[in-house]
Amino acid sequence: MKIIKSVSLILFVGITLLLFMLRPFGLLDRDAPIEINTKVVFSPDDLLADLPYGHDLLTALDFSRFDSEQALLKIDLLEKKGVFKDSPLYQAYYFMTMNNVMLRLGRIDDASTYATQLLLLAEQENLQWVKASALSELAIERTKRGDLDTALDYLNESVKIAKEINYEKILIKSYNSLGVISILSSEYGKAQDYFHKGLKLVETNSKHLYHSKIIGNLAVIYIYLEEWNKAIAYIDQSKEIYRQDKRLEPAIMTVLLTNESNVYYRLGDAVKARQAYVEANKTLEKDSSARLQAIVLNSLSNVLYLEQQYESAIAESERCLYLDGIQNLPLQRGLCYKSKAHSNMALGNYGAAIEDLNASVKENSKIAHTAYITSNHKLLSEAYEALGDNSEALKYFKLYYLGDKEVLFDQRQSELYLLEESFNAEASRNALTLLKTKNEIQDLELERQTLVTRVILGVTFCVLLALGYVLKKNLDIKSKNQLLQYSNSNLVELSTRDALTGLYNRRYFDQYIQRLKQGHSSTRDSSFTIAIMDLDHFKAVNDNYGHDVGDLVLIEVAKRFLLNLASSDLIIRWGGEEFICVIEEQGNIASLHKLEKVWSAIKDEPVSTPAGDINITLSIGVVTDISAADLMASHTKLLKRADERLYKAKHTGRNQIIAID
Ligand code: GH3
Ligand code: MG
Ligand code: MG
Repeated sequence: MKIIKSVSLILFVGITLLLFMLRPFGLLDRDAPIEINTKVVFSPDDLLADLPYGHDLLTALDFSRFDSEQALLKIDLLEKKGVFKDSPLYQAYYFMTMNNVMLRLGRIDDASTYATQLLLLAEQENLQWVKASALSELAIERTKRGDLDTALDYLNESVKIAKEINYEKILIKSYNSLGVISILSSEYGKAQDYFHKGLKLVETNSKHLYHSKIIGNLAVIYIYLEEWNKAIAYIDQSKEIYRQDKRLEPAIMTVLLTNESNVYYRLGDAVKARQAYVEANKTLEKDSSARLQAIVLNSLSNVLYLEQQYESAIAESERCLYLDGIQNLPLQRGLCYKSKAHSNMALGNYGAAIEDLNASVKENSKIAHTAYITSNHKLLSEAYEALGDNSEALKYFKLYYLGDKEVLFDQRQSELYLLEESFNAEASRNALTLLKTKNEIQDLELERQTLVTRVILGVTFCVLLALGYVLKKNLDIKSKNQLLQYSNSNLVELSTRDALTGLYNRRYFDQYIQRLKQGHSSTRDSSFTIAIMDLDHFKAVNDNYGHDVGDLVLIEVAKRFLLNLASSDLIIRWGGEEFICVIEEQGNIASLHKLEKVWSAIKDEPVSTPAGDINITLSIGVVTDISAADLMASHTKLLKRADERLYKAKHTGRNQIIAID
């Protein structure tokens, strides 16, 4: 019972200790909720989706990017139902859809009208997200017109609102527009910064429409920087993203492919330039905007120039310049003049080339496109040189030199490289940190597991140790108890034994009586005989042979007693040379016979000692026919009577047994 208590106490303490020690390792609360970033991103698309016609309107908006006809059909249907009068949310989406359709069709003025209506709606209804969207749209339209300052104002305001309300969709769009404006202003570093900001948000807004666009625009930066490999890499990446997203407007692909064609044109690879142009041309649709058509025509003109088909190249450039709506597109117009000038120069038409180049500079100046202006100055210098007008040639060369310096060596350039470097560094640093963190987490996990195992092993070991200790202690106690019991019994034995002869001593007699009292009923039916036996003239033995010899005689006498008595008979050395014998017999005669045998054994044979054989005789006083009850009740009296008979034996000649009074 005691051991069960100890073991359960140890187990309880052990397990409690184990649980307590495991707590800090999180083993016990592994499924505890992980704190997650609960940033709420504002999404009016979700709000609209919950409205009855929300889904239809969202489909119309999707169509507005690549299928104007379908978009207009959907809008018409909804308009007939009177949907747009119902809620400002419907109205906002109506304006956004119409704005997209108009932009796609190249109807910039109409697009501008819808964007302005969107802005008015935002003001009327005090809808911040609508305002951010409207400003973003208006900025794009202003950018296309070359009004970069107004576009910048709109975009900054749009970004501010979008940030405030977490309208990430518009934030991405506005960052892209800001990047484009920065490219147009030859601020490539800034452009790259905006694109990366947008990309960072795209990561958490997967499949954002602008993902492909932004990567494509990053490629444009490298085209300006004449880093062709990087430009192609980004174009390929952008194309891949585009292909994965079916919702995207084909215009993105058109721009990407013409850019690719332009890269190969700049590299002088006519085959690849044409391949890319052919692909770009396939993406053009009947209702493609003037801007897109201009871009593709310009690309074709460049390819033809490479193929030395200068007249055809000029024809394509002129087609570009006569496009409907090209007047509102200074960037494209400037590029078409430039392509034309290129081919004219190749044909030796320097005068015409100078005209084209001046027209190109004029368009470029509208949008303050330093890079294009500078490259035109270079061509002007070459044209005047060819015409022999050295002073004009020098003038334009100086302009080109200054501009080129501005474009290629100004601080913004180095900023870009720095940014690129730092971006790469940051990216690789992030990758490294991520890897390091992953490894650290793995190491920590391993460490944690090892630690947990160690703790479990440690605690188990402690518990086992404690259990072992308790068991050992218990065994110790058991064996000690045994030993104690043994030594106790030994002590009892020793205390009831005579050291010299090995017979029981006087103290044992009481125990014998006690045992009789606790004994079997059969024993209680027995009759007993008590004899007191005393060696005759033993003093003389000691006197004659010495005490030691006397001892040896005592030992021999004891042996003879034991030899002639049964194991059930009791023989006690009562003291000195006096012994008591208790015989449990069925009859008195048998008892007396036994005593006679004992008596004879002593007297008939001398005890051999180193001092020689010694003859010993014995006197015995006997009380027979004693009942167990009498023995138990009055053993002292009985002993006394036996002693009286012994006395009689002594005084009547010794060497005899007296059993009667
Ligand atoms: P009796 O016939 O009258 O009994 O004469 P006795 O000499 O035997 O009796 P007594 O009582 O006068 O002397 C007993 C002697 O026994 C005295 C003592 O020296 C001796 N004796 C008692 N115990 C021992 C013992 O352990 N060893 C030895 N060697 N002698 C003992
Ligand atoms: Mg004697
Ligand atoms: Mg005596």
